[in-house]
Amino acid sequence: MSFVKRDRDNGTLRMADVGREVTLNGWAHKVRDLGGLCFVDLRDRTGLIQLVFNPSVFPNLEDVRAETCLSVTGFVRARAPEAANPKLPTGEVEVEVRSYSVLGPSKPLPFPVSDEEQMRSVNEELRIKYRYLDLRRPSMYRKLALRAAALRKIRDFLAGEGFVEVETPIITKSTPEGARDYLVPYRLEPGHFYALPQSPQQYKQLLMVGGIERYYQIAKCFRDESQRADRQPEFTQLDLEMSFVEQEDILRLMETLTLKVVNELIEEFGLDLAPVQPFARLTYDESVDLYGCDKPDLRFGLPLFDVTDAVGESGFGVFRATVEAGGRVRGIRYPGGANLSRKEIGQLEEFCKEFGAKGMASLAVVTADEAGESPYVSPRGLAVRGSIAKFFGPDELEAILARSAAEPGDLLCFVADAYMVGNNVLARLRNEVGRRCGLRDPRALKFAWVLDFPLFEWSPESRSWTPSHHPFTAPKTADMVFFESDPGRVRADCYDVVCNGMEWASGSIRIHRPDVQARIFTMLGIDEATQKDRFGHMLEAFQYGAPPHGGIAPGIDRLVMLLLGEDNIREVIAFPKVAQGYDPMMDAPSVIDPQQWAELGLRLSR
Ligand code: ASP
Repeated sequence: MSFVKRDRDNGTLRMADVGREVTLNGWAHKVRDLGGLCFVDLRDRTGLIQLVFNPSVFPNLEDVRAETCLSVTGFVRARAPEAANPKLPTGEVEVEVRSYSVLGPSKPLPFPVSDEEQMRSVNEELRIKYRYLDLRRPSMYRKLALRAAALRKIRDFLAGEGFVEVETPIITKSTPEGARDYLVPYRLEPGHFYALPQSPQQYKQLLMVGGIERYYQIAKCFRDESQRADRQPEFTQLDLEMSFVEQEDILRLMETLTLKVVNELIEEFGLDLAPVQPFARLTYDESVDLYGCDKPDLRFGLPLFDVTDAVGESGFGVFRATVEAGGRVRGIRYPGGANLSRKEIGQLEEFCKEFGAKGMASLAVVTADEAGESPYVSPRGLAVRGSIAKFFGPDELEAILARSAAEPGDLLCFVADAYMVGNNVLARLRNEVGRRCGLRDPRALKFAWVLDFPLFEWSPESRSWTPSHHPFTAPKTADMVFFESDPGRVRADCYDVVCNGMEWASGSIRIHRPDVQARIFTMLGIDEATQKDRFGHMLEAFQYGAPPHGGIAPGIDRLVMLLLGEDNIREVIAFPKVAQGYDPMMDAPSVIDPQQWAELGLRLSR
């Protein structure tokens, strides 16, 4: 099938081209029939150019509709100054069409591709069903172009550091990262399955045993877990691993890479973001203590405060009982919250209950003049108001005001519960308060290291220890003394990068000694036979001179989200899944032929 091929890209035409004959290929972005003349904005990946069809030459343009694919030949001419479009780089010129042909006619569209404003209210599932049309929008093109530039820069940087890109298998054996596996039945032996990797973790460690020393891969990871705004069943990581390194070496490499790649992208794409600064560092314990979680949003302060020791004997029964039961009374300052109505405070309490709190108590902080019959006025001239104020004596109130660093106008919100239950609630409340008070600088990307995670977490459901990262993470040597006596106290050489409240990267120094790895498996309740069956290859490999090694894996989708200020991961993936892992464009997952069932030795039990 021949067609008249373009000799110019649409977005490149300028005044210097006036008088030239050009052939262009692209899509009819907008068609405006003004009776006399018909104007069409022709779009290709480089931009838009206005075409003019003269009715004396083209009396009938019925075959040119929105999104028709066209080849057009014509002369570039200057627009009248008042007709110029300063918003378009090509806005000073237009192309007077001499001839055109339709390369691909278009049916009426399911949504107005050319209208960014209207596209905002189009149902997302419909957009994803017709993703090939949605992707025609320049804004979507830009997202993919930014993503591609990020990958290119990462590759260039790592090549410069002596890394080798290695692909690892997709159909393989289960690699646990704490989610459910996607399984692929094996035709030749019914009952046997491949698993899609939750990450290339085991392969990258085996590459280190294989002497590769510096590996990376832009890796697809597959995790069958409940979806969230920042999660997809398959997602992309920059997976990397290094031999003969300590934690500090990996932190340095990762931080250098991030600063370089992110700052270059900000510059090149003209993103409205402040240049990224060297990462803050905090330990896991500090992070939980200050912000209630291990992925704090550091665009604003508002640390949690703790008044457990000050209110344990107060007249407020809820606090007293919590402290007696070994729980904690912690809280957060809500600047300006003293003005909230009783109803609004009730809604805030509901918010807390949604995340597992039994309740939320509050005190408004006011100046002495506003206090009325306040039971207490602090040396700083502060007083409190609220239904629980009467339960506290002066010392207790002073401790509350001091620990919370209260200011007039604040609402102090308290959650009394077991340490981590309360933290989880307060961390979410902190984010909510940050959002409501407009404390999140939209131009800031606040990267930070969270270090020294615990090696294990106690899982009350399975009544066993589970890895807080994955089972290949090395314990800190100094903490091994607690390994048997107090496993929860053993910290790991494990680190995360967080940014703006999102976990962006996770990594660790790995176990490279088979005896240590076997001990960890045992602590995780994996008996010897299962160890051999599931991880025998790792335990075996470590017996042939395994080097000390470690690595990290930042999320690529999340990086692009951060750069674009997107809250929805689907916006930065060409072909994402919607809820329940469904792909409405391909209609996957879908039913398979009865013959395939038989071939795979599978039977439907329903
Ligand atoms: N495999 C880990 C993950 O996917 C990253 C790492 O430890 O390098 O989170």
